[in-house]
Parts: sequence; C-alpha cells; structure tokens
Amino acid sequence: MTTNSKSDLFRRLPSVDELLRQPDLRPLVESEGQAATDAARAVVARLREEITAGTLGERGVEIAVSGIKEAVERQLRQALSHSLRPVINATGVILHTNLGRAPLAASALEHIAETAASYSNLEFDLNSGERGKRDVHVERLFQKLLADATNHVGTAAPGHPAEQSSAAVSTIVVNNNAAAVLLSLNSLAEGGEVIVSRGELVEIGGSFRIPDVMSKSNALLREVGTTNRTRVADYERAINDRTRLLLRVHRSNFEITGFTEQPALEELISLARKRNIPLMEDQGSGALFDMQSVGITGEPGVLDSLRAGVDVVTYSGDKLLGGPQAGLISGRADLVSRMRSNSLFRALRVDKLTYAALEATLLAYVKRDHDAVPTLRMMRLSKNEIAQRAGKLATQMRSPRLKVDVIDGESVVGGGAAPSAVLPTQLIALTHQKFSADELCRQLRASDPPIIARVEEGCVLLDLRTVFCEQDAILAATLASLN
Ligand SMILES: *Cc1c(COP(=O)(O)O)cnc(C)c1O
Repeated sequence: MTTNSKSDLFRRLPSVDELLRQPDLRPLVESEGQAATDAARAVVARLREEITAGTLGERGVEIAVSGIKEAVERQLRQALSHSLRPVINATGVILHTNLGRAPLAASALEHIAETAASYSNLEFDLNSGERGKRDVHVERLFQKLLADATNHVGTAAPGHPAEQSSAAVSTIVVNNNAAAVLLSLNSLAEGGEVIVSRGELVEIGGSFRIPDVMSKSNALLREVGTTNRTRVADYERAINDRTRLLLRVHRSNFEITGFTEQPALEELISLARKRNIPLMEDQGSGALFDMQSVGITGEPGVLDSLRAGVDVVTYSGDKLLGGPQAGLISGRADLVSRMRSNSLFRALRVDKLTYAALEATLLAYVKRDHDAVPTLRMMRLSKNEIAQRAGKLATQMRSPRLKVDVIDGESVVGGGAAPSAVLPTQLIALTHQKFSADELCRQLRASDPPIIARVEEGCVLLDLRTVFCEQDAILAATLASLN
C-alpha cells in the first residue's frame, strides 16, 4: 500500500473528539467520564497502528468505523474488568504452575478476609501489649505437625555450640521456595563452599537454577560426581575447611534412569554428622501428609527427612502443602535462628494475607481434615468417583456435532512433585465435527469462565479430577452450547 492511500485511510478515521461527540457514545462518556475518553483513544490508536502496519485496508476501515461504538464499549469493559481471572482447570494437572498452583481451602479464604479487612495482631502480643513477632501465628502449628521430628534433628557433635538447642525444630516463612533456598544458603554458607551432586543442578523453570541461586547467595558451588552417578565418597573427598553445607536437591521435574547411582539420604546424614557439617535438603514439593496413602511412593515428606536427621528442609507453601505461595524452612532451631537474624529475611518475608492463608491451611492438617485442602482432596479422589461424574457429564454434553467418549487416563500431580507419579482417572474425550481439537480448545478458553483442557492425538481431553464439582454444570452447559 502506498503512503498516499494510507493517509486516505487515516482521514476516514474519526478523531477522538469527533468520536466522543457522537450521540450514541454520549451516555457512555457521561457515565464513565475519563475512562470512556481513554477507551476511545485506545480504539482510534489501535486502528491507526493497523493502518500503518498495512493490516487494515479500505474495506477493513469501513467495517471498523461502522462498529466503532461497540469497539469503544468493549475496550472500556476490558479496561475496567480484572485481568487476573478464575479459570476452570480441566487439565488434570493438580499443581499447575501456570494456573496458579494450589487453590486455597475455604477456611483459608475466610481467614484472609476476616484478618485482612481489619487490623490484626500480626506483630502485637495481646498478653503483654507489646510488639510481637509475625512468625508466632504459624510456628505453633508447625511445632505440632513436626513434633515427631524433634529429638531427631540436631547433628551437632558433642561440644559443638549447636548441641544445646539441637532438639527443637523451628520453621520460618519467606516469599517462595526460591527465596527459602537463597536465604538458607546465604545464612549458612556465605563465603564458604556448598557441596552438591552434578545430578542435582536443576533448573525448575521460571529461571530458578540452583547454580545461579548459589552465586547470588555468595556461596561457592562445589560440584561432585557425574550427571548420572554420585557416591557418598564423592561428597566426602570434596569436604575441606571451607565447606559449610552439604546440599541435596529434589530433581522435581526430571528423572535420571539407566546407569545411575545416588547416595541414600542416610549415607549423607551419617557423613554430615561425622564431619559436623549441616545437611540441607531442598525438597521443593515438601509434603506434610503421607503421599503413600494416595499411591505415590518414593516422595519423601518433610517429616521423613527431619526425622531421618536432615538439618534443614526447604519447601513450597503452594505445592503439595496446598496453601498460599510461600517458602518454608524447617530445621534445627540454631540454624533457622541464623536465618531469622539475616537482614535478607526482612526483604523476603511474607505479608499478613499469606500468614492468614497458611495458618488456616495448617490448622486443617492439625485437625486431620485433609479433604478441606483442595489439592489434597483432588489427590485423594478415586478413579471411581471421577468416572461417575464423567459419565453423568458426558450425557449432558451431547450435542449433534460433538462426539463425547469417556476413556481411561492419568492425572499428574505437577509442580515438580513426583514427576513420574500418575493417578488413574477417567477422561472425557471430545471431538467436534466442525472444529479441530485446537479450535475447540480455543473456544473453551474464550468462554466465561475460561476452560483449560488438554489436547492429545486430535482429541480434547477433560479431566474432572481438577474441576470442582460445582463447576461440572458450567462445563456441561458450555459444551452443549458449542455448535
Ligand atoms: C518448585 C521448586 C523450587 C522453587 O519453588 P517456588 O516456591 O516456586 O519458588 C525450588 N526447588 C525445588 C526442588 C522445587 O521443586
């Protein structure tokens, strides 16, 4: 398109002033004021950009101008509505990082609402009337949940200053697990060396890489072993007088199979004890309940590790725990106390909303009310329960062009927890006469609320494990309405 014809097209667009003076936009301008002006400006600017880019021709401009009032209304609605919205997760990935990981328990939402809408005793001791500490609200619950570990942690050799406090397990909360690792490494190993296996130098995604976090913490990474095989002797050989910490990292999102070797946790614990160097484990997922009860084996819980003698465990609040985004550091009280007095802790600490959500979530654990925590409930759902819902929904969804089948499949935990563990489920498999699977998915994403599905082998798959029961009806209605 020539510059000339483009300037012709520009001339056909109304100016913002002309647009705002149009009688059918008057009511909008009167009720919404500046927001309506901004919306009109945005619409005109977008059309100008499209003309400049050559994507809007003569006919396109004509159509755009005739529908400009609707465009301004749409723009305004969008500008004044939330960008962060609830979606229906029909992927079957329970801890879907892109979909916000753990949905919170109802009691957590209530506790957030009641404490956030008013003043609270966040850092105020109601007994003494003096300044208090924000940790106390969850520390008492962690004490209960990890009570079994007390007397097991504490690797200090006789005569070591840590000895006297070694019996107690203490926990602090920071912004996320990445922050927990950063704070722990900086507090325990700044200026010294940390020994890690080459098979555990992971990248978790979102640019969390163990070597990078290590260098930000001012600790020196001492890699040992090889990608597939590391022995406890490799750790032992690397220990020198600058060694501050032995680090074990949960591989989270990958597995090494084949010719592999990893020291057992117990071997690392005895080495740590023998040489009087703390052992830290970055668990990532960090379960506070028995994963074996839902058929997932080989995932160590926080309590297992502490009981076995690991000195410090770091884990996420919004992975297997099913709470708010947070990083939790549980371990030997003397070590955790060094983290608490680190000035980084102040920069990484969490707000009252997080404490409220975490306290309510932990309280559900203390009461052993596991079904109150949505992620735990989803993990505990049996294939049978899901199959019943899927069967019922499938009959409600049928429309002339939609083929609906119920098939066997697998849900996954996600969030880097138990990468190879799967939970048996039943899936609703959809194919549409007119739309491809990708197009069907796009339409589901465009519905309100958006529905996020999986595509496999030309089929759209819905896994009800991650769909709340009360959302089943919305799914049925949305699908029945697609033609
Ligand atoms: C998920 C994970 C992290 C990062 O945790 P965030 O809470 O997302 O910051 C760190 N380490 C491991 C092993 C993980 O699995």
